[in-house]
This record gives sequence, structure tokens and C-alpha cells, in this order.
Amino acid sequence: MNTPTLFVVATPIGNLQDMSTRAIETLQQVDLIAAEDTRHSAPLMQHFAITTPMMAVHDHNERQRSQAIVTRLQQGQSVALISDAGTPLISDPGYHLVSAVREAGFKVVPIAGPSALIAALSVAGVATDKFTFMGFLPAKSSHRCQVLQGLQEAVYTHVFYESPHRIMGSVADMLKVLGGERHLVVARELTKTYETVHSGTIAEIQTWLTADSNQQRGEFVLILAAAPVAEKAAMDAATDKMLLVLLEQLPIKKAAAVAAKLTPHKKQALYDRALMLQGK
Ligand code: SAM
Repeated sequence: MNTPTLFVVATPIGNLQDMSTRAIETLQQVDLIAAEDTRHSAPLMQHFAITTPMMAVHDHNERQRSQAIVTRLQQGQSVALISDAGTPLISDPGYHLVSAVREAGFKVVPIAGPSALIAALSVAGVATDKFTFMGFLPAKSSHRCQVLQGLQEAVYTHVFYESPHRIMGSVADMLKVLGGERHLVVARELTKTYETVHSGTIAEIQTWLTADSNQQRGEFVLILAAAPVAEKAAMDAATDKMLLVLLEQLPIKKAAAVAAKLTPHKKQALYDRALMLQGK
């Protein structure tokens, strides 16, 4: 390793055979491995006979450790960053470190490999030409519903990470906010023994999860398809009709406010729509 470099190394999300040769060689050759949790990564190191010293770099010490790692690079050493699973920085620590190293003028090289987000998208069978990765939904139901409200008319696929503690709550909130008909894919325990990829409407997914508590265990990626165009058009037609009736009796602002209480649409969007309906 001639040029001091920070390698950002993807590791398996379950199946150790997904570890690339390049990842193994890099971890063997660097001077230091910055790991999210050194105890968690110990079995991986053992399996691939990697004896490189490790340093813990996690959410709580990342800024301080970034400086120590920049110092190592200044001394001519190379460092690898790994997280507990998958690609570092994807819902994992590393952003502060990578930006500090880049700012200090050192090379940052990706050793590409597994990520649950991409693995799930690759088998979900939903449109992947454009998608939005949302990370984890908020833990609190009220905040979660707020986020989901913004997706009522989503024109792209949305991808979420989810934990076993919150899977039922999140699906229940999706049902509440988005209705039962939207297409949802659950990608669970990818690359592991109990790997399951199951799709259906939100209502069907809730029934399926409720019927078998084993399906509520493990690690999840949720893939929410875009709102169906036909459904959206039908909803728009119904909303237009409602707005036209309200506009016969009420000023435009009031009509939009009443319609906002009766439909999932935002007041401003309804106001703009009412203006258009009035030909203004
Ligand atoms: N950096 C990782 C990556 O590239 O996928 C993600 C880290 S994030 C802290 C952990 C979350 O990723 C889990 O809670 C789960 O939502 C998702 N995840 C990780 N491994 C998974 C797997 N094997 N199957 C399904 N989801 C997984």
C-alpha cells in the first residue's frame, strides 16, 4: 500500500461467501481497520484470517477518531473502514470520517460489495429506474405518519430499513396513512437461512405478518411501490368533483380547507387545484 488511503470496505449482510477477494486482501493489507463494533466484526476477521489491528469508530466517537485516522494517513499508513454489515455510510457510521479524510486531501477508495438496500431492490420486482432510499422510518408513530403522508402520491419507489421491533407498527401506519391497496414488498433476512421476499398489498402484508410471528423476526427492507396512476387519476376526479361542489357554496380558501379535511391532499394543493378548476 504505497499511497496512504482510506478504503471503505463493504462486508456481507449475512452470507460470508459474499465477501469479495478484494475486500479480504484490502483488510489483510491495511495498517488499521476502523470498525463500527470490533467485537461484532471479530468472527468475520477470524473466518478470513485477517489479523490487522482494529479500532472502534462508531456514532459516538466518530468525530474524535476521524482526527486520529487522519494522523495515521499523514504518517503514511492506510486504513480500512467497515461497518457491522453491508456498505459503510449506508444507514451506518462513516460520513464524518470520509469527509475529514477527503478534506485532508487523502484518497478514499470504495471496495464495493453487499448492501441490503440494493439486494432487496434487485429481487423486489418493482420499478427501480428511480427510487428514494428513506433509511429507517422514525420510531414514534406520529412522526412516522408524517413522513408517510408525504408519500401518498409518490411517483417513485421508496425503500426503508426496518427492525423487528417496529415492523408491525410501521406496516400498521402505512395502512392507516396510505390505505390497504398500495403494493409493498418485504425483503427479510436477505442472504441468510430464513431469507424471505414477500409482496402484496399493504393490507395483505399486514395479514401475512400477523398470521406468522416468525415473519416478524430478523432484519427487514421494505419497498413501497409508487402510488398507482389509475388510482391517483380516480382520486383526482373525485377530488375535483368535491371541490366543484364546495366552490358553489364557499370561497376558494374555505373550500380548499374543507376538502383538506375530507381527502388526503394538502390544503395548498387543493387551493391550487380549485384555482385551476375556476379557470384562474
Ligand atoms: N450498511 C448496511 C447496508 O449496506 O445494507 C445497513 C446497515 S443498517 C444499520 C441495518 C439495517 O439494514 C437492518 O436493520 C435492516 O433494515 C437492513 N438489513 C441489513 N442486513 C439485512 C439483511 N440481511 N436482510 C434484510 N435487511 C437487512
